[in-house]
Amino acid sequence: MSNWRSKFENFENPDKPKHKLNIYCLIKINFKLFLEVKIKENISFLTDLKHFNLIKNYTWHSYKHKKDNTYYISTNITNKSTISFHRMIHSEWKMIDHINRNGLDNRECNLRETTKKENNLNCKLYKNNTSDFRITKYRTSVQTKQLAIDFKLKHDKITGNRNDTPNLNSLQKIFFDEKECIKFLIKEKLLKPSEKCQFCNGETYLYLKYNVFRCKKNDCKKMVTVFKNTFFSQHRLKYNDILLIGYFWINKLRIQQIHKMTDISRLSTRIRNFIRDFRRLAINSLTPENEIIGGSKIIVEIDESLFDNFWIVGGIERTKKRKMFFVVVDNRNTEALTRIIKLHVKPGSTIYTDAWCGYQNLESLGMKHIRTNHSKPNPR
Ligand SMILES: [Zn+2]
Repeated sequence: MSNWRSKFENFENPDKPKHKLNIYCLIKINFKLFLEVKIKENISFLTDLKHFNLIKNYTWHSYKHKKDNTYYISTNITNKSTISFHRMIHSEWKMIDHINRNGLDNRECNLRETTKKENNLNCKLYKNNTSDFRITKYRTSVQTKQLAIDFKLKHDKITGNRNDTPNLNSLQKIFFDEKECIKFLIKEKLLKPSEKCQFCNGETYLYLKYNVFRCKKNDCKKMVTVFKNTFFSQHRLKYNDILLIGYFWINKLRIQQIHKMTDISRLSTRIRNFIRDFRRLAINSLTPENEIIGGSKIIVEIDESLFDNFWIVGGIERTKKRKMFFVVVDNRNTEALTRIIKLHVKPGSTIYTDAWCGYQNLESLGMKHIRTNHSKPNPR
């Protein structure tokens, strides 16, 4: 990108800006496009596409803030005064917080209005990384749960746990036969079974011809769709197609793969929206993070996964209930792992871990410890 710009920049162009432009490029993060703007060697910052005008009209520099030892971005608006990038895009906010403490990450999703007290707290939490539980507390519950789902999906992939997922053969009726699908949804209580008629309070029955519950009384016979007030009524897609997308999602297919394998939707964004909704539903069904799991003769699998700049340590029972816990930590050393396991796993449990050296001393906590040699996709 820098090459073509330097070639064309030297042409006499009346529109040529009077200042030096920062080099920029597009970068894709979680399926979204952002601008990455280069400041100098090794330093660039992120922002949303909608701020492209600011990149075009100013020259941006970085400066290091003494207080929290992180870089921020600023520009000169007159000879003497400068303004920081986050201040320019949110002049209406009294105080601005970079949620992940990275002043170079100026994406809207990383910025929020804050108070001085909150901001200091956030600084401290990330500066003294001694207690991981304070960080866990600080993260909102929803964020942690979202991470937990990613963790669980990744973990199931590693250990090959697919006991909960029926095979395609037994499910094909549900996916390809609309009537069978409705029967299944009612049986699994995803749709409410027949209720009293809302007009005459009489008995109703399932009338599959029109996908309704219909009043039995001859002088009433009113019908109510089986999808009333459900997840399925909010979407235009056929309910069995929605289930099929969900099935593929559970089995870790990527959105593009689902899109290719089905003719469900012309737009992959619609599939993406469904997966977002499934994720939300799954989040709502998760048990609290502070769960204590395991016990005598119970196998507990414990694993750690690295996310951007922190670890998630999680444990899952090998029982029907599949009880689990998740903790966000800054590192996975012996001290942290021992403390987490002591807090979340009952003594007497059999713990399965990978070969990571941080899992020492588990016997001293009264656990039986078995190391499995599952190969990780990304050994770190
Ligand atoms: Zn009725």
